[in-house]
Amino acid sequence: MYAEDIQKNVTLIKRNIDEACRVSGRSTREVTLMGVTKTVDVDAIREIISCGIKDIGESKIQDATRKHSHISQEVNWHLIGHLQTNKVKHAVQIFDYIHSVDSVKLARVISLRAEEIGKTIKIFVEVNVSGEETRYGFSHEDVAPAIEEMLLMNNIQVVGLMTMAPFTDDPECARPYFKQLRELKESINAKNSVDKELSELSMGMSNDYPVAIEEGATVVRVGTALFEASSEI
Ligand SMILES: *Cc1c(COP(=O)(O)O)cnc(C)c1O
Repeated sequence: MYAEDIQKNVTLIKRNIDEACRVSGRSTREVTLMGVTKTVDVDAIREIISCGIKDIGESKIQDATRKHSHISQEVNWHLIGHLQTNKVKHAVQIFDYIHSVDSVKLARVISLRAEEIGKTIKIFVEVNVSGEETRYGFSHEDVAPAIEEMLLMNNIQVVGLMTMAPFTDDPECARPYFKQLRELKESINAKNSVDKELSELSMGMSNDYPVAIEEGATVVRVGTALFEASSEI
């Protein structure tokens, strides 16, 4: 029963992704559907993997470590929650991607800890596009110089920018923030003194991923819409 709900949800979400790509003239190959599994356990994770999802997002190190040890399939593990420097040592062991890099210091610690275990971690630099005080992330002005420093670190690869739009019921309200993140990425790539382009935009959640895709998202982080019983199909 539950497995069936998940399968239906995956089908519906993939259809919505296809549609958002179609209306914005993008290829579906440019968009990765990350399953955010912070509220579910390993059975549900196995189910979305069997539906073809290869990217798993978790927000807490301890939960993720336990779940990771039970999943044998080759998938990409993404940390999407806030990361404290004293937990980086554990984070680099299981995660391939860290989406919540919000300081140069954190990036430096990730690079050092990754070096100790011979890994390179792909990172997204988190931007607080809405400027809300309760949110993590760099301000618009600070992000470009921070990235210049991060690009010189050995064991991280800066792949792109990440943001969380303010929560609203109307996904159209999130559009300007997604657009801003895309424009920020373009301006950083245009000015960048090091020859490494940011290619990724991690933006869009259950309530607004189609809009995020229309505005250029390459990774959408979807939790609730995957795991909630749905009556939409
Ligand atoms: C929980 C979470 C998501 C997924 O949110 P849903 O609304 O359940 O899809 C995405 N990104 C981050 C950073 C989250 O913490």
